[in-house]
Amino acid sequence: MTYKSTRGAVSGISFSEAVLRGIAPDGGLFVPEQNVRFDSLELAEMCEMDYKNLAARIIARYATDFTDAEISCCVEKAYGTGSRFDGVDPAPVVHLNGTLSMLELWHGPTAAFKDMALQILPAFMSTALKKRREKERIAILTATSGDTGKAALEGFRDADGIDIIVFYPEHGVSRTQKQQMVTQEGGNVSVAAVRGNFDDAQTGVKRIFADAEFAAALEKSGWRLSSANSINFGRLLPQIIYYFHAYFSLVRADRISMGAKVNFVVPTGNFGDILAAYYAFKSGLPVGRLICAANSNNVVSDFIRTGFYDANREFTVTVSPAMDILISSNLERLIYDMSGEDEKATARRMMELSKQGCYNVDRGTLAAITSVFWSDFATEEETKETIAEIYREYGYLADPHTAVGINVYDKYVISTGDITPTVAVSTASPFKFTGCVAEALAASGIPEFRQTTGIDDEFRLPRLLSSLTGKSVPEPLADLDRRPVLHTGVCGADRMKDWVTEYIENRKDNDHV
Ligand SMILES: *Cc1c(COP(=O)(O)O)cnc(C)c1O
Repeated sequence: MTYKSTRGAVSGISFSEAVLRGIAPDGGLFVPEQNVRFDSLELAEMCEMDYKNLAARIIARYATDFTDAEISCCVEKAYGTGSRFDGVDPAPVVHLNGTLSMLELWHGPTAAFKDMALQILPAFMSTALKKRREKERIAILTATSGDTGKAALEGFRDADGIDIIVFYPEHGVSRTQKQQMVTQEGGNVSVAAVRGNFDDAQTGVKRIFADAEFAAALEKSGWRLSSANSINFGRLLPQIIYYFHAYFSLVRADRISMGAKVNFVVPTGNFGDILAAYYAFKSGLPVGRLICAANSNNVVSDFIRTGFYDANREFTVTVSPAMDILISSNLERLIYDMSGEDEKATARRMMELSKQGCYNVDRGTLAAITSVFWSDFATEEETKETIAEIYREYGYLADPHTAVGINVYDKYVISTGDITPTVAVSTASPFKFTGCVAEALAASGIPEFRQTTGIDDEFRLPRLLSSLTGKSVPEPLADLDRRPVLHTGVCGADRMKDWVTEYIENRKDNDHV
């Protein structure tokens, strides 16, 4: 398997290189150059596998420059015994009723779905690094508005040959998120608060990446900067696995027979999660529809309905913040694929997007998209009502992102009458968003939840919600306020480069000892 850019400038790139580079040199995204196809015999075999072995089987088709032993080592670390997931199954499927099941992707160390990929990406990178002739160390740089930074820290802590530096806006993250980051353990991590907002931190990181002189100086001392963001193919690949796993879980539970179609509902932001579902479908997973759920930042759902992508609109802060996105980067891969791999058209559209904030696709491309995808969005009110409804109906506690998905699924069923067995992706633990969840339950008139009103202590509220619902707070969130603070550094937005330099200098000194 080799990889090429969606914008056409490079091809024949190995998996290792694609993972280490992250983004193609022409600004495009790496996509597989050959088709992966699992036939029905193979699917039957995969159906009997546990998560770890299933992961190895799928990864082997994409990471063809890794040996079987290397792949085993990666999956063992991420999903095997001793993994950071809280159960035997890293991605359990829970059935709500006869047709709807939940795929819970929040049993990892940060209680949100980014763990599924960020627990294995560092192993991919370490393995890829070892294959290189020249000795090089990597520093991952990330600016975070909250969740990704923590998931990346947990993934890269103590990774071989890789360090991670995370910048978060001093006053731009929740108390829980801040506490998660400042208590981060690991000998290869650095966490700094930036004086400014998320844009300041993000701009600072982008400026460091664009600084060629700085990169050359780092290279001399054997270091290279890299990122772990969601356009990296190494993050997409682990997400393909859990769609197969969910499907096989339904087969094993006798809810569908092998070969029958299943729909997936995916709460969408940067379009990474649902794109992985599409890749699973393309490689032979029997999928009916992919239902793409947006919140009121509904650029993508408008696009899937009309073929016109228009990011020129008001950005709103919602109760599902991980989906507050106007530029869904991973959509580039879908447009490339659905236009018959037209790299020129893809490059032109992405240019229009960066210049004018909008682009159109032709009718053929739109028809190809809507033959697989269906999309709509949920308002803030609808999201909260859905949290209360599914708790009342099924006793299931959903976080706001997951609730957006269920609300859009209801709209899908009403609009199409399609009652194909469906898996809704549950992307975060409800205990990560207790403020919104408690408010939704209190407002719905369930009497016992009224006592949560007015409590804005982010550490007390989860315990109260837990005692009211009988659901336990995930272990990584449970004792957060009692963990020792290890990172107190604050830096000005104009001093971020100095922070990186000092950190790397210190690491070098340590290595000589
Ligand atoms: C990142 C995230 C999403 C959106 O996923 P994309 O791959 O960006 O579409 C949804 N829910 C939660 C909780 C997330 O953290």
